[in-house]
Amino acid sequence: QNITIAIDGFSSTGKSTVAKQLAKHLGYIYVDTGAMYRAVTLYTMQNGWIDKDQFDVDALVSNLDKIVISFTFNPELGFAEVYLNGVNIEREIRTLEVSSFVSKVAAIPEVRYQLVKQQQKMGKDKGVVMDGRDIGTVVFPYAELKLFMTASADKRAIRRFDELIGRGDDVKYEDVLRNVKERDYIDSHREDSPLVQAEDAIAIDNSDLTLEQQFDTVLNLVNK
Ligand code: C5P
Repeated sequence: QNITIAIDGFSSTGKSTVAKQLAKHLGYIYVDTGAMYRAVTLYTMQNGWIDKDQFDVDALVSNLDKIVISFTFNPELGFAEVYLNGVNIEREIRTLEVSSFVSKVAAIPEVRYQLVKQQQKMGKDKGVVMDGRDIGTVVFPYAELKLFMTASADKRAIRRFDELIGRGDDVKYEDVLRNVKERDYIDSHREDSPLVQAEDAIAIDNSDLTLEQQFDTVLNLVNK
C-alpha cells in the first residue's frame, strides 16, 4: 500500500539524494520542493526584482500567476527535472547566486501559499516522496512517514562545495559555508511556516553515515 513520505531538514543535508533513491526503489514519484522555491527565485532574478541591494516583493507577488513550474521525468538521470514556463532550469537553479536569494523569496507568505497548494496536488495520490522544509508540518501533516535530516554545518558545506566544484562552478568554500548557515537561519526564523522538526518526525543525523548506511536506515523505517 502506497504511503506519503515527507523528508525535511536543513540545507544540504542530503535530503534529495536519499529521497531520489527511495522513490526509485519504491516506484514512487519524487518531488523536490526546494527546486520550486528556486524556480520562483530565478524568475524574480530574471525580472530584476531581486539583487543584493533590493527586493521588490510587490512586483513578485502581483506576478505570481505568470510562474508555471512543472516537472518532467528524465529517464537518463532517473529523476524529474524542473521547468519554469516550459524551459528546463534544473542546472541554473543550483548556482550559489540563486541559493543566496532563495530563502528571502521563500519567506514571502504568498509564495508559500501558491507552492504548498501545488505540492498538495502533486502528492494527493500517495506513492510520493517529497523533500523540503515544511512537508511534514504544513504540506502533508498526515504523512505516514516523516524524516528530519540533520548534519553538522561543516559537513553540509563541504558536500555542497564539492557538488558545485564538480559541475564546474567557481566558488569559495567560505562562501558556501556562509550561505548554508544563512539559509538555516532565515528558514528557521521566518514567520510563515518556519523550519521545525515535526513532533512525529524521526531525526537522522547523517554527519557520519555513508550514503549506503543512510539509505538502509531509511528503508528500515519504511518497512516497519
Ligand atoms: O532544498 P533546497 O536547499 O534546494 O531549498 C532551497 C530553499 O528553498 C531553502 O533554503 C528554503 O529557503 C526554501 N524551501 C522552503 N520550503 C520548502 C523547500 C525549500 O522554504 N519546502
